[in-house]
Amino acid sequence: MFENLSDRLERSFKILKGEGKITEINVAETLKDVRRALLDADVNYKVAKSFTDEVKRKAMGMNVLTAVKPGQLMVKIVHDELAGLMGGTAAELKLEGRPAIVLMSGLQGSGKTTFSGKLANMLKKKNRKNPLLVACDVYRPAAIEQLKVVGESVGVPVYSEPDNKDVVAIAGNAIREAKAKGYDVVIIDTAGRLAVDEEMMNEIASLKEAVNPDETLFVVDSMTGQDAVNTAREFNDRLDFNGVVLTKLDGDTRGGAALSIRTVVTKPIKFVGTGEKMEAIDVFHPERMADRILG
Ligand code: GDP
Repeated sequence: MFENLSDRLERSFKILKGEGKITEINVAETLKDVRRALLDADVNYKVAKSFTDEVKRKAMGMNVLTAVKPGQLMVKIVHDELAGLMGGTAAELKLEGRPAIVLMSGLQGSGKTTFSGKLANMLKKKNRKNPLLVACDVYRPAAIEQLKVVGESVGVPVYSEPDNKDVVAIAGNAIREAKAKGYDVVIIDTAGRLAVDEEMMNEIASLKEAVNPDETLFVVDSMTGQDAVNTAREFNDRLDFNGVVLTKLDGDTRGGAALSIRTVVTKPIKFVGTGEKMEAIDVFHPERMADRILG
């Protein structure tokens, strides 16, 4: 679907070498290719611009003009810069509370409910935890039902209060239940809207304040590309979340949203969702993501 950037770069530098000399102007031209590829991969245009500016600075610093294999060197610089930007802080979950509390946030359809189930499943199987799922999406009647189906499929109970619309009260009761029954991780699924709105933000902000979560995760659909940046920024401004979950990476997106979000909100991407099944969860690997974006 996309032309492979690594090949494209190497090819254009080979042609330049054939002409005998590589100049700064040639590098600038090639960086346009890099920028185009990033835009193809759905990286936000401002992020793509500052990224290529930085790559140019590095390329000049590393004497790409006189390198034996300038194309390969450029590819390496671009790849390392991408991976470096998306990596950094260890992306493990910090689950110290008793019970530990994980709060999901994000737009409707981003994959919160599915990811809540995946995380519960993973914590149960790999970390030998005893999780409790909590239904705090009280607006869509089907939402509680959906979480119950998910919970059942992974053998994790779901706490819900179908007639209660007060999410702070529901979460408080769920935490009490968890303490009483020995659940050590409480995963709270929340309501999302199709677009950011004040009411939703107020609700989740007061929920966060009330339960003081160990982890507040922002779940975002990687297919939303350019829009993901604005959504991430708005949620971060209100919630100061501490990790990102990038879902639907099994689609035909290059996942440029990963670079955009990481750059704009400077919060680590912790997990990726790679399918609808409960096993389709992976920890985030910056190197792999860099390869994917470059194609
Ligand atoms: P919520 O509204 O944020 O709770 O989103 P849901 O969990 O209901 O997910 C919305 C849709 O996306 C559902 O049809 C899910 O099956 C699907 N979905 C969630 N995560 C993934 C993923 O990683 N890959 C794919 N292909 N689909 C996903």
